[in-house]
Formats: sequence, structure tokens, C-alpha cells
Amino acid sequence: MIELKHVYKKYSSNNNYTLKNINLKLPSTGLISIIGESGSGKSTLLNLIGGLDTPAKGSIIVNGRNISNFNKNELDYYHNKYVSFIFQDNNLIDYLSVKDNINILNDNNINNYIKLLNIDNLLDKKINILSGGEQERVSIARALTIKPKILLCDEPTSSLDSKSSENIAKLLKELSKNLLVILVTHNKNIAINYSDQIISIKDGNIISNRIINKKSIYKSYFKPVKVKINIYKIINIVKYSLLSKLKRNIFIILAISIGLISLSLVLGISDGFNSALDREEKDSLSKYPIYISKISNNIDNTLFKENNTYTDNKIHLIDKDHINNISKEYLNYIDNINNDIKYKTYIYNVNDITYQTNSLLNTSSYNDEFTKISGNNITNNNDVILIIDSNNKIDKNTLYYLNLDSNEYNYQDLLNYEYNINDITYKIVGIYKSNKDNIFKDMNGLIYNYNNFKDNIPVSISIYPYDYESKQTIINHLNKYNDITYTDYSNTFKTVSSTVINSITIILILFSSISLIISTIMIGIITYINVLERTKEIGILKSLGLPNKYIKLIFYLESLIILLISFIISIIITLLISIPVNNILTNITGLDNILILNINNILILFSISILISLLGTFIPVKRISKLKIIDIIRST
Ligand code: ADP
Ligand code: MG
Repeated sequence: MIELKHVYKKYSSNNNYTLKNINLKLPSTGLISIIGESGSGKSTLLNLIGGLDTPAKGSIIVNGRNISNFNKNELDYYHNKYVSFIFQDNNLIDYLSVKDNINILNDNNINNYIKLLNIDNLLDKKINILSGGEQERVSIARALTIKPKILLCDEPTSSLDSKSSENIAKLLKELSKNLLVILVTHNKNIAINYSDQIISIKDGNIISNRIINKKSIYKSYFKPVKVKINIYKIINIVKYSLLSKLKRNIFIILAISIGLISLSLVLGISDGFNSALDREEKDSLSKYPIYISKISNNIDNTLFKENNTYTDNKIHLIDKDHINNISKEYLNYIDNINNDIKYKTYIYNVNDITYQTNSLLNTSSYNDEFTKISGNNITNNNDVILIIDSNNKIDKNTLYYLNLDSNEYNYQDLLNYEYNINDITYKIVGIYKSNKDNIFKDMNGLIYNYNNFKDNIPVSISIYPYDYESKQTIINHLNKYNDITYTDYSNTFKTVSSTVINSITIILILFSSISLIISTIMIGIITYINVLERTKEIGILKSLGLPNKYIKLIFYLESLIILLISFIISIIITLLISIPVNNILTNITGLDNILILNINNILILFSISILISLLGTFIPVKRISKLKIIDIIRST
């Protein structure tokens, strides 16, 4: 069944061959002992048969197949289903219970073995409280559950008292009725009392090969199938591994959460700040008027969609200073939406004299914009109101027609002042002042009664909306009227402030990426330490034929779970602290709801968490494929 032909083994650190020209034929069942002094090459031979290492020369044939020629899948199958190891230091996984260790990758019925091995009262115990003999028996149970054809035991009794050693030997003898047991042992008595064949090795040579009971060699075939792993087994390993380092993992989760929280704060604030500023901006900018005049000032050429750029060799016409034909009909059209208009100012030109009206001063709700200093509101057609700006100034030209040309006046000098223009006598009935914090702080001049000009067409109209929404309604309404264009003054301001907001966002995002990089590096370091610490475990899993990708999956899942818990914690904490943070920020800036965590940001944070765990795990996990079982087993 197993045949070794001219097998040589040389370790790169040694000058001589450790095994020299080994030729052996082993039967299909029975207990074969390998004895020899320490350092003679017994373990080396066993590892070669087990496919943990490859010979320098020669071939090891198992059921017609040279195991040096196994591909990865065949080797995994060989370890998972064909050959089982029981090592000198029993290799059990500390954080799993006895039961989980025995059935670590398989779900076989272990009742037969636990009776045979007398471990039925140990099943739920942790490994580290078991005695050496008990651990050895658990190792044997694990080795047997896969129903191997070959059981390789490297000094399983070396750390046991003589009674336990005897028991193990009896057990192996019993098992060897149905499979091939190769037992490396120092214990000559056991070898002599139980073996069917005794091979003794010295300095890498077989010096004797004694057959006590001749066992038959029957041919069977090595028929590998793809190793199938129950994903639940992997999840079980991940679960207990994470729980076994609970304190450390909680610390890690806290550290990563801090990174993610700072990131979510920055994202939340930059987003919330943006929309808060946007709201604020909309509100304040909507106070600026929509301006319609005879010659439209098509500032950014957008009114007639003329913002095309031409690169051909032709000359294109654009309607830059569009002539608006303001008509009675158009004035009525504007009046249709009076509910959305806070007030309008019309400017008329009659006989080269400019008259300004302001619908606000026909009402009592002028307080937002103006403060009455003395006199009254307009009541008669010929009443006029004088408006001074927020610094008590008025344009010289305004008073020019009134034959007033001093540099300074008292309020009484101008109140009730009467003057003639075009044979009409006007009277200044009130003096108002522009409020400092309104967009009119520079407005000054004379305001006439709108009723005087009912039959005239104004040269310009300024429409002041109540708020952002009413402004949209007004604009939509005006857009529907063909061939008359308006200028939206707030458009010129908007671009400036959005540049500022964008730069702030970029700076905040730069800051947040620092916490992101730190989190990635941290997960990387943690996983790396994890891989280093768990080489023994990786070796065990490999020797049990668990394919590399599943071992990697264990590490990826652990990082992912840690990251996902951190993600959830940081979302919850961010939502909780957003309440006081918003209160504080509202007090400082006057803006509402600056910190908001919308679904976009949560998704961004989620993707970043997954990316961090993948990036941080990727490099350390690469080590796993490179780890050779033989080095791991030796170093433990
Ligand atoms: P035994 O099991 O009989 O005590 P081993 O097979 O473990 O002996 O070792 C045989 C010889 O090979 C020893 O001299 C040992 O130092 C050497 N050896 C074993 N494994 C390695 C290795 N991985 N690298 C270098 N030398 C090794
Ligand atoms: Mg050894």
C-alpha cells in the first residue's frame, strides 16, 4: 500500500542527508513501530509519509500515487480524508471545547470513539484543563473521526505515565486491525509488545526491519474528491476565536469605533453644514430682487440658453442686451402672483424725471426694511416719503430737483416740504430710514405713491419674494412669459459662497481620511499579530486538510465582524452625540441641524469599514499560504 523507494531527505541547514536511501514496503493494516535514537530521523520519515514535507530524492507511493506529485486539492484531500496525525505535543485548539476540537471540520458520529477512548465526560471541557493523557486521547479521537486509512503517531506517549502509555498502545493496537498505524516511539517495551513490524533507524538509515506478524498488502486506489468544508464549522471557529480574546477585541472595537466616529462626524458635519448653509443662503439670497428692465442685463447669458461655446469659424449672434417690451399685459401678469411677492418697486420715467415707488410703503408692514423717523405713511396721491440710508445719507441728485442743495438738513427742514414737478405739488409726509441689516441698507431717495402712475409703463420692476419657495414660484411664473427676461441678482452671490463651502468640505474630508488610514493600519497590525500568534492553529488546520482559502476566510471574517461591530457602534454613538453637538453648534453658528448622518453617509461609512477590513487583512493573510505545516509543527 505504501512504498518508499530510494528516499533521501536533506534539510537546507544541514550538510548531510537526514534520511539516506530509505526503501520500505508497508502493509495496508497493522501497527508498525519506528524506533531509534533522538535525531536519527524518525519524525522526518513520518512527515514525509504524511505529505507534510517532500523528499530530496526518491518517491513515496501511496496506492499507486507518488505523493510528491499531488496537486493542492489532492494534498488537501490526503490530509482531510486519508491520513491523520497525532503529534508529540498534541495539537489541539485551546479556545474550542473538546467536542468542537474532535469534530473541528467534520460532523461525524463520534460516539464509538468517545467510548473507546473513555472521554465521554470531557466533551464540553476546555482543552487547557485536561491532563496530558486526556489531551492525547482527544487528539486520537480527532484523528479518527475522519476515518483515515493511515494514522501517523509521533511519540504520542512520550509525556504520559506508563499506565496511560499502555492504554494508548492498546488502543492503537485495536485500531490497527482496520487501518495502518505508524507509531514513532522511544518506548521499546511498547514497540516489542504491540507491533506487527519494527523498523529501527540510525543516522538516517534503516538498520533493521523486523516483521513480527505478516500483514497483507491489498491494493486500493487513491481517489481524491474536492475537499468540502461545512461553512458552519468555519463560523464556529471564528465565533470562539473572537470570544476567547474578548477583552482585546473590545479594546480593538473601541479604538476603531473612535476612528469611524470621527469620520462619521466629519462626513455628517460637512454634509449638514453644507445643507444648513444652503438653507441659510437660499433664505438670505431669496431676499434679493428679481429685476426686470427695458434693457435686460443678461449677465451670465443663461437667460436664453446662450452659454454655448463655439469653436467653428463663424460669427454667432447672442441676445446680450435684450430689449424687453414691458406692457400693461405684462404688469397684470406679474400682479397675478401677488401672494408670493413681498413687495415690488417700480421706477417710472416721466418727462425725464425718475419716480420710484415701493409697494411696501403703501402697507403697514414696512418694519422689516425701514424705520419711521418722523411723519406719516403715504395716504394721498401727492404724498412722498423720503428715505435715508442706514448711515443717514441721501444722494445729492435726489434733492437736486427739489431745489435743495445744502450739505446737511434737519429732519424738520424736510418734513412737510412741498415742491413742484411738472405742475404737480408733492409733499414729503414722512422720513424713513433703511434698516442696517436688510439688503436695502444703502437705499435712499424719494418714494412716490404708486397710484400716480397707474397708466404709465415703468422702466424697471424689482420683485422681492418672501422666501425661497415664493421666489421659485415667481421665477416659474416669469419663465412662462415669452420674450421678457429678468435678472436674478442672487445668482451672482451664490457662486461665491458655494466655492467657500466646497473648500471647507475638502479640508474636512482631508482630515477624516487621516482617521481612515489609521484604522486601516490598525486592523492590519492586529491581523498580522493574530496570524503570528496563531501559527500553531494554522498548522493544525492545514494538517487536517483545511484548504488555505478557508483559513484565510477565518481571518477575513474575524476582521469583518470586528469592523461591522465597530461600524454599528459608531453609527449609534454618532446619532446619540449629534443631539448635543447640534445644540452647541446652533448656539455658536446660528445654523440648525449641522450634524446630520444621512443614508448616503451611512453607506459610505459601511463601504469604508468593509474596505478597511479587506485592506488591513489582505497583506497579513498572504503569509498563511507561505506557512509550511512542517515548520509550524516543529516550532510548537
Ligand atoms: P527524530 O524524530 O528521530 O528525533 P528528526 O527526524 O526530528 O529526528 O530529526 C533528524 C535530524 O534532522 C536532526 O538532526 C534534526 O536536527 C534535523 N532536522 C529535523 N527537522 C529539521 C528541519 N526542519 N530543519 C533542519 N534540520 C532538521
Ligand atoms: Mg522526533
